[in-house]
Amino acid sequence: MMDKRLLNLHKYQLVLLIFLLIALCACTKPKTHPPSLSATHKTEAHKTTPVLEQVKSASLTPASASETIGGKMLYLTFDADMTRKMLKKEKEHKIDKWYSPGLVDYLIQNKIPSTIFSTGMFAEDYPELISKMSSSGLFAIENHTYDHAAFESPCYGLAVLSTDEQKHKEISKTSEIISKLTGHTPTILRHPGLCHNQHDDQLAKEIGLEISDSGTISGDSFIKDSKIVAANILKGAGNNPVIIMHLGGPNAPATEEAVKIAVPKLRAMGYVFGKMQ
Ligand SMILES: [Zn+2]
Repeated sequence: MMDKRLLNLHKYQLVLLIFLLIALCACTKPKTHPPSLSATHKTEAHKTTPVLEQVKSASLTPASASETIGGKMLYLTFDADMTRKMLKKEKEHKIDKWYSPGLVDYLIQNKIPSTIFSTGMFAEDYPELISKMSSSGLFAIENHTYDHAAFESPCYGLAVLSTDEQKHKEISKTSEIISKLTGHTPTILRHPGLCHNQHDDQLAKEIGLEISDSGTISGDSFIKDSKIVAANILKGAGNNPVIIMHLGGPNAPATEEAVKIAVPKLRAMGYVFGKMQ
């Protein structure tokens, strides 16, 4: 009997011991937040990360850094056409301007280096504009012949030059006009309509000019839908660093808006802009 009572007492002590152990374990266990609270804290912490820190960490990713340093360079080029018919229309007040002032302002305000291929007649018609663009340091003013006549036929219905003497005069006269206005003698020639042959290339080289006829055709002549032109620019940027456009005006009515659509996207893609020289 005695032994049995002693055994029961041990049983009570064992139960008490287990109870004490459980209580002790519960007190020393690390406290955790309920799942919902933890989630809330995580979200709040993310929300309150300083914006500057977020920008820093984003811009320091290797891809962004290499793109900026590598400089995916693009050359925006704008042809400033002027034919005798166009000048006549302007003198008769049938049109206001043969370029878009808003496009020029946008390029200057956003510090976008560009290249203007100006005809001699355009430079004579807008001497202050050419001087202003050149003195801004953002623009290279290059040669697009004097009156936009074609060097080779057929060429989009343009009047055609027939002799080397005429062609020589078209180029040299324009270089003289631009040189007087800007203090810089053009070193690059773009033929009207990109129409030229090997003999024309040789002629230009003898005068000291290189040819620029390769690039992405923006297709901005006469088209009114800026989204189409912008898409052409964005699509072509990866294939050729030169983008061929016009300086707006009635013959390129979508160019200004297309540039405003495309440039921010190109910059976001890591492209930087330069002028041809
Ligand atoms: Zn042209």
